[in-house]
Amino acid sequence: MDTRTRRVEEIVPSTPGLLTLYACGPTVYRYAHVGNLRTFLLSDLIRRTAEQSGLRVKLVQNITDVGHLQDDTGIDMSGEDKLLAQARAENKDPFVIARFYEDAFHADLAALNVHPADAYPRASEWIDAMIELISGLIEGGSAYVGDDGSVYFDARSFPSYGAISGNRLEDLRAGHREDAEKLMEGKRFHADWALWKSAGAQREMVWDSPWGPGFPGWHTECSAMSLQLLGSTIDVHTGGIDLRFPHHEDERAQSDSAVGHEVVRHWVHGEHLLFEGRKMSKSTGNVVLVSDVTDRGHDPLALRLAFLSSRYRQQANLSWAAIEGASRQLTRWRELVAAWAEEPSKAMCAEYVGELREAFEEDLDTPRALQVLRRLEKDEAIPGGSKLETFLWVDHYLGLDLARDIGKAPALLPAGASELLAARAAAREGRDFAASDRLRDELAALGVAVADTKEGQTWSLA
Ligand code: AMP
Ligand code: ZN
Repeated sequence: MDTRTRRVEEIVPSTPGLLTLYACGPTVYRYAHVGNLRTFLLSDLIRRTAEQSGLRVKLVQNITDVGHLQDDTGIDMSGEDKLLAQARAENKDPFVIARFYEDAFHADLAALNVHPADAYPRASEWIDAMIELISGLIEGGSAYVGDDGSVYFDARSFPSYGAISGNRLEDLRAGHREDAEKLMEGKRFHADWALWKSAGAQREMVWDSPWGPGFPGWHTECSAMSLQLLGSTIDVHTGGIDLRFPHHEDERAQSDSAVGHEVVRHWVHGEHLLFEGRKMSKSTGNVVLVSDVTDRGHDPLALRLAFLSSRYRQQANLSWAAIEGASRQLTRWRELVAAWAEEPSKAMCAEYVGELREAFEEDLDTPRALQVLRRLEKDEAIPGGSKLETFLWVDHYLGLDLARDIGKAPALLPAGASELLAARAAAREGRDFAASDRLRDELAALGVAVADTKEGQTWSLA
C-alpha cells in the first residue's frame, strides 16, 4: 500500500531486476521493543517477497546515533537528544550507549530471522554527506541560515509538502506560544525545520560545519544517507506509521529539493503494534522486548509468527496469549514437517503454491497465507511429501525455520537394521529359531532391541 497515493501499487523497480529499499532504522538509545520489531519485519517481508519473484534487493537501514530529539515528533524540534539523555542516565559516553544498543538491535533481528541489510549506515559517520546536502539546499534556495546559527529548511519552497500524510502546510499551526517564541528565534516560518542545529551549550556529539559547531537534524540523516547509498531514485521506503509526519514529509522535501525530482517511488508504512490493548510505553510499564519473550521459554520465531498473523498495514494487538498460540502453532508445524519428511518427497501442490504466492505479492497478506497453510496442513488429498515441499518453499517468505525438526525424528533405524529385521521376520515365519536368535543378537549389536508380540516382531532403539 503506497501511503502517498493511498492505493496498492504494483512495484516496478526503476532499475530492471533490482529493487532498492530504504528502511528507517532504530534510534539506538534503548532496546527495540516488539512494536519496533514489527516495523523492522516489514522491510524483510518486502525483501523476501521480491527475491522470490526473482528480483535482487538492495536494502539500506540507518542507525540513528545522533540528533534525534525527545520531542521532534511535532513540527517544532526542541528538547534533548535521546542519546545524550540516556548517556546521562547511565553515566556513560553517548557512543558507548549507541554501540551497545546497536549490537542489541542486530541480535534481535537475527533472532527474528530478519535478513541483514546491505548497509547499516550510522548517522554519526555520514556528517560530511549531510553537510554537503545542506549546502546544496542553501545554494538551491530551499534552506537558509537562521539568526541563531542553525540551518532551516524553507517549508514554503516545497509546494507539495504534506503529500504523504495529508498535513498541508497551511493547516499546520505553530506550537504552544512559549515554544513558538523560543523556536522562532532563527526560523522565518513556524513550519520550517532545522537541517543543522547550532551546538549552543552542547559539548558532546558536536561537529564542525560551515555554519559553526553543531549537529544534524534527524530528518537530514535519512535524506543524505539514502541518496548516497541508493542513488536519486529509491523504489520503496519503509517505516512505522508515526514517521509519516514529520519525519518522512521533511525527508521527502529535502531529498526531492536536492535532486529536483521525486526520489522515493513508494512510501510504505507499518501500522503500530499494541500490547494487551495498550500503547507500549515506558511510563505504563508495558514495553515488551525479545528477551521477555525468550525468558518465558518461547522461540523468538513464535513472535515472528505472531506478527505474521496480522497484516502490516493494520494495527495489531499482541498479547501473551497470542504469542503462546503462535508458539504452539510453530511447534506443531515443525513436527508435521519432520513427519512429512519421512515420506517420499513429491512435487509441490501447484494450487496452494499459487494461492500463497498471490497472498504475499498482493500487498503482503500474511494472515491469508497462514490460513492457506492451515488448510493445506489438513488437506487429506495431498500426500505428505507434497506438503513438505510446499512448507519448505513457503518458509523462504515466512522465515520460521520450519525444517528445524527434520532429522530429529526419534526412531530412525541404523543402517542395515531394516534388512536384518526383515530376515528375522522371515526366519520366524519359517520357524528357524536358531537364525532368529542369531539375527536378534546382530540387531542388538546395532542398538536395536527386538521383542516378539502377538502382532509380530516389534523393535525399539536401545
Ligand atoms: P525508533 O527507534 O523510536 O526511531 O523507532 C523505530 C521504528 O519503530 C520506527 O519505524 C517507528 O515508526 C517504529 N515504531 C515505534 N513504535 C512502534 C509500535 N508501537 N508499533 C510498530 N512500530 C513502531
Ligand atoms: Zn528515517
